[in-house]
This record gives sequence, structure tokens and C-alpha cells, in this order.
Amino acid sequence: MSCDLWSSARAAVREILPYQPGKPIEELERELGIRNAIKLASNENPWGPSPGALAALAQFDPGSWSRYPDGAATELRRALATKLGVAIESVTVGNGSNDLLELAARAFVGPGDTVVYAQHAFAVYALVTQAVGGRHQEVPAREFGHDLPAMAQAAADAKLVFVANPNNPTGTCVGADALAAFLERVPAHVPVVLDEAYREYVTRKDYPDTLPWLRRFPNLIITRTFSKIYGLAGLRVGYALSDPRVADLLNRLRQPFNVNLAAQVAARAALADDAFVALCQERNRQGLSVLEAGLRRLGYPVLPSAANFLTFGIRRAAEAYQALLREGVIVRPIANYGMPDYLRVTVGTPEENERFLAALAQVRLQLQATG
Ligand SMILES: *Cc1c(COP(=O)(O)O)cnc(C)c1O
Repeated sequence: MSCDLWSSARAAVREILPYQPGKPIEELERELGIRNAIKLASNENPWGPSPGALAALAQFDPGSWSRYPDGAATELRRALATKLGVAIESVTVGNGSNDLLELAARAFVGPGDTVVYAQHAFAVYALVTQAVGGRHQEVPAREFGHDLPAMAQAAADAKLVFVANPNNPTGTCVGADALAAFLERVPAHVPVVLDEAYREYVTRKDYPDTLPWLRRFPNLIITRTFSKIYGLAGLRVGYALSDPRVADLLNRLRQPFNVNLAAQVAARAALADDAFVALCQERNRQGLSVLEAGLRRLGYPVLPSAANFLTFGIRRAAEAYQALLREGVIVRPIANYGMPDYLRVTVGTPEENERFLAALAQVRLQLQATG
């Protein structure tokens, strides 16, 4: 008789819906027997890693790879603290910012405790809540964005609140006044994780500079990442900024060497590469407007986005996704976000954006012919 450990696992774990990553390029190419597929599915930087990071890695002595990295990531944390003007004790590093989202859940949420986040918010909030046996309180969205007044009300009975600004997959963004008013209303004993993975892409004038708020709101935990504009998604490195007492808690749960040596080296150099960040922000702005105009021309409604991706409405989205794959273009279906009639596309290079729009025009004809 086979021994099935499934029923031995914690019920909360059995009920997790596994995270669905974007389809890898190699997988699609293998399936179709093609070579030139493009992936606009995971909000990665189409311009590659920061050149500063690449140079630092090239100069780095690989002989050190037999040694453990600095578990405290002191140099990286010092660089972050200096650049951002916060105390080094406020900085916690993570194996991607996802790591920090999970640490926050493990630090503050036990079985049955309530975690508040918005409908259509980043999938990892639900995942980490479920993993610790927390109770989900998903606050209905307003025009696809966070309903902050409703979330503040819900926060009164919560152990943790997640806010994504901008949010993925909707691209929605809240301004400084609304966010500050929200934080004023959340009880001081309830931690708020503010996920700023896309902050460097935002161009709107009233986007909050949240660093000064760390003093005003000691329950605020800001998370940021090197995966998006810095182009280091494959190395997995992110960080949290918080009150040092909160950082102390996260640090106790953190794996001793959660950020690898290459990631520490690359992230430090990327942080100094302001020119690359500015260039990518500008190119992204252009790419967003090309994609938005192209999608509207094809008749698809677009959710205005503050980040490096666009979500657009499309009937028979699952079929359209498959048809795009056959054209060698990978985008992201978001039915698992409660948006079955939408697809999300990441801003690519100008060539990739044109290829996506041309492929979508083809797919639109195919769907019309069969619908
Ligand atoms: C991509 C993304 C992240 C970053 O995840 P990493 O683990 O840092 O790669 C965090 N939050 C949101 C909302 C994201 O879309």
C-alpha cells in the first residue's frame, strides 16, 4: 500500500492554490518548435539588468562562491540606508520582496487571524495568509483599485494589512493624501505592509514619498524590490523598511543567508545606477503609451496603469491567451485574480510591443472568424 502523506499535511497547506508564474519562453519554444518567442508575462525589465550590476558581477571573484555570504548583508543594507536616509537597523533584506511579504505574515499572523487586502490584489498576499492559516478578508475593489476607507474599517479587527501601490495586476495607484488618511485610520497595533515593487515606474506627481512616514506610522512596513526596474528578477533580492523593532522581528524569522552573494553584489551596484533607472522609467513611459494606444485602436478597454504593464479587457480571454501563444507571444491570463475577461501584458522593447500588437490583431481576426 502506498503511503500518501497528503492527508498528513496541514489543512491550510492542502488548500493553497499554487502561485501561477508566467509561462517560461523555453517551454513555449519547445512546445511549438519555434525560436523567437517573446515573454511579456512577468513584468520583468526588457532592458536587462542594470549595467552597473553586470559590471560588478563581472569583476567579482568567483573564488568567493565557496563561502557563505554575509548573512546580515551589511554592505547592501548600509548602501540602502545611506541612499534612502534611514537607519541601517530599519532595513531587512529578502530573497526577493516576496520573502518579506511572507516574513510579515509569519511574524504577525497565526491560525484564524484576519489578514486584509484588496480584491484583485497581488496573489502572494493570499498565499502567505493561507500558509500561516490566516483568515482572508478581501475588501471589494473600487474601479479595480483599493477601497482604502473600507480597508481602514476592516483593519480594525485585523492582524495584518497588505496594500500594493501600484497594484499588480490592475496597475492602479493611490496618491499621497488618500494613503496618509488611510494610515491615520488604521489602529497603531495593526501592521500595514505597503508593497512598492513598481514605485520607480510611477510618474504621477502625487505618488507618496513614504520614507518620512516610517516615523509617523511605526506600524508601516514598506517593501521594495530589485526585480522590476533594476532588472535583477533572476537573482532574487528585495528589502523592507520599517521601525527597527519590526525589522528585529522579521530578522528573527529570516533564513540566515536568505540573500545570496551574487544578489548582494549586484543589488549594491544596481542601487548606484541612477542613470539606468531614469532611462528605464522614460522608456517604460513611452512603451506604455504605445501599448495603450495600440490596444485602444484594436478596440480593447485598458485599465490606466502606473507601472510597467497594462491590463486590458478582452472577451474569451483564455482563448485569446492560447492564440497569442501560438503567435509566439506570452502574456498573462488573470482569471485567478477574479478577472477572467482580462489579460495583462508587460511593457517590452519597442520591437516586442509591436510584435505583441501585431499578434493581437491577428488573434482578434481569428476570434472574430470563430465567434
Ligand atoms: C513583482 C512583484 C513583487 C516583487 O517580487 P520579488 O519577490 O521582489 O521578485 C512584489 N509585489 C508585487 C505586487 C509584484 O508584482
